[in-house]
Amino acid sequence: MFTKPNIQLQSATDITVELLNKMNITCLILDVDNTLCIKKGEIILDGVMNWLSDMHSAGIKLIILSNAKPKRMEGIAKKLGLPFVGLGGKPLPFGYKRAAKRMGVSIKNCAIVGDQLLTDILGGNLAGCKTILVCPVELENSFGFKIKRGIERKLLKKYNLKCDF
Ligand SMILES: [Mg+2]
Repeated sequence: MFTKPNIQLQSATDITVELLNKMNITCLILDVDNTLCIKKGEIILDGVMNWLSDMHSAGIKLIILSNAKPKRMEGIAKKLGLPFVGLGGKPLPFGYKRAAKRMGVSIKNCAIVGDQLLTDILGGNLAGCKTILVCPVELENSFGFKIKRGIERKLLKKYNLKCDF
């Protein structure tokens, strides 16, 4: 059950301060691809900049955790105005713990927000943070990803969660 998220939402921008308060979350650890951006970070999803600003104003700490190389992540993080941990090694827990430490927050008060059960959510559960699954916006073309998304569809069905991809 390490791949089961605490909650599922359509998109990151559906996360409200009220929800985070209820879940005792003071810091969001954010995935980038298919969570905040598409096209390798070139396109920021609708509403994301305003949502980030609302979260920031409410005192929610925000940090990116990505498996991408720091070189690619640097530009995207700058565009989003967020700090980042690159080469995150998801689903291994060390990147999550590094992100929490960097923000000065206990991992228990963090939530990972991501679109992949087998990386974002699995790693978040292993690290001991809360997990928020969002729906991917565009599907990947690589063979490896097709297999991963196939496994995810089966898991989502098993968990009675929404699957519209
Ligand atoms: Mg992603």
